[in-house]
Amino acid sequence: MRITFLGTGTSHGVPMIGCECETCRSTDPRDNRRRPSVYVETDDGQAILIDAGPDLRAQAIDHRVRRLDALLFTHGHSDHILGLDELRRFNAIQRRPVSCYADAQTIFDIRRMFAYVFDPNTPRGGGLPQLELFTIVGSFCVGRQEVRPVPIFHGQRPILGFRLDGFGYLTDCSRIPDESWALLEGLDLLVLDALREKPHPTHFSIAEAVDAARRINARRTCFTHMAHDLRHGPTCDRLPETMQLAYDGLVIEISNPEPRSANREP
Ligand SMILES: [Zn+2]
Ligand SMILES: [Zn+2]
Ligand SMILES: [Zn+2]
Repeated sequence: MRITFLGTGTSHGVPMIGCECETCRSTDPRDNRRRPSVYVETDDGQAILIDAGPDLRAQAIDHRVRRLDALLFTHGHSDHILGLDELRRFNAIQRRPVSCYADAQTIFDIRRMFAYVFDPNTPRGGGLPQLELFTIVGSFCVGRQEVRPVPIFHGQRPILGFRLDGFGYLTDCSRIPDESWALLEGLDLLVLDALREKPHPTHFSIAEAVDAARRINARRTCFTHMAHDLRHGPTCDRLPETMQLAYDGLVIEISNPEPRSANREP
């Protein structure tokens, strides 16, 4: 499984509009952070996007994302869904709707924010994104790839993280409920929200994220959804050995330690 980080920044992106801080002026490309998203290519050839924020067009062009078999949404905030209109290109390339998976609240949010897409009276001429919305109620499969939702809290709001075999993705997280820790055992790669140094009501701070990552104990942990408070180099230098800040364009390959199903054995 190959994971490409398309964006690792918080909702403002980094640099932020009108900010002259050290990180926003940094010449280290790892301090440039688009809105959070990852692209996952699975062992059986499925292409899965997690979240579609306002930077999707530039992200897809830069990282040559040309195919989507499924789009998973963690929740309905703007920085995770405002790229929906870009699905038109995938509709044209693949000649079919994009299958989108989200919890009931997020589907409600998408239908509200993109009401024109679902309104039969909208003229079709300009081209509307074609999507099929599926409500996540438990584990499901994209091709042969199992996707397991991992309930987490984003402030008071219950949202979803995802687990795909040894890969766990928990963005916009301020609390992991008791029942979800067991879903995160034995990960090869954990991606976890770490917004900034100071505590925040709806996101883990870096210290909280390190604590949670220690408890989850994945082989490797990458933090995401960072604000401009965190400069890549100096922050990574003081993290534990198995942890780092992710950055846009980072690619990580993980392999399944054992075959998951009988039909993959020789
Ligand atoms: Zn700044
Ligand atoms: Zn959010
Ligand atoms: Zn967010």
